[in-house]
Amino acid sequence: MNIETTHRLRGIAVGAAIGDALGMPLEFENASPPGRMIREMRAGRLPAGSITDDTEMALALAESLLARQQLDPDDVSARFLDWFKRHPADIGIHTTNVLVSIAHGAAWETAAVKVQQHYPESAGNGSVMRCWPVAVLCWQDEVTLDNWSRLQSRVTHVHEECIAGCAFINSMIAQMVKGASPKDAYSYSCKNVQMPASLLQVIRLAPHRKRDELRNTGWVRHTIESALWGLLNTDTFEEALIQVINLGEDADTAGTVVGALAGAAYGFDAIPDAWKNILWGEWPVRSRTIWRLAEFTALADQLAGIQAEDTPQARMVNGE
Ligand SMILES: [Mg+2]
Repeated sequence: MNIETTHRLRGIAVGAAIGDALGMPLEFENASPPGRMIREMRAGRLPAGSITDDTEMALALAESLLARQQLDPDDVSARFLDWFKRHPADIGIHTTNVLVSIAHGAAWETAAVKVQQHYPESAGNGSVMRCWPVAVLCWQDEVTLDNWSRLQSRVTHVHEECIAGCAFINSMIAQMVKGASPKDAYSYSCKNVQMPASLLQVIRLAPHRKRDELRNTGWVRHTIESALWGLLNTDTFEEALIQVINLGEDADTAGTVVGALAGAAYGFDAIPDAWKNILWGEWPVRSRTIWRLAEFTALADQLAGIQAEDTPQARMVNGE
């Protein structure tokens, strides 16, 4: 694997976690005034640099992919349930409803469908926030990437816009890992990912939105809109994230999605050290095992099959 690809794959995992942590203190806040944007990791409900449910669910999915070497929805739902039973600090309403139903013995297929029937308009961002591990594993195989991105959504979120949103974001990530620019990855995924016309319309307009038009709620449309607007109107990892998290509201989730995209676009080295060094999480929740930067890069390496000789450290030792 070439070194640039390694950087991009690590950038996805670390970028997503950093976007989550950076957005955490801004969740539920109003958008920051343009002249007073927050640019550093701050404490909120959790200490500065902490990941939240967005990254925790992604880690559960990633560990399932590693253990099963495929997207096994039974295993994924069992791991989500284990996470839920550990009383995470943060969890979405829709995800709670589905996992409560699974805890009471429902199969994941029926649980997610029943909750959707109760709340037919519900199309939250709870599956798009955690979908990036599928892209780190399957970026080279477009068909599997599409199938598994959708299937991991169905475990909790069966609304067609949630399902298609995951396929779209992971398609863009994979294109950028292959070296496409954000703009080209966006055009490619608009053309090639099957999705409802309603979602495609939102995606097509996203880069042209004005900042004060963005709502950034927990609706999957809003999260994708904010993340695309941030990625496609900036040209660094740092600026993409700053723009998106300062929209407030569901800042950590939009931060996670733009973090995964921008991490693929600009790579691991483009992520500011000041942010990387403070990244922190307890995983599994309440296990007293602490995750920092090294654990996130190791996870990306495992998922992507990055060998020691693919890493920058090895290249330096070998004088390359
Ligand atoms: Mg969160």
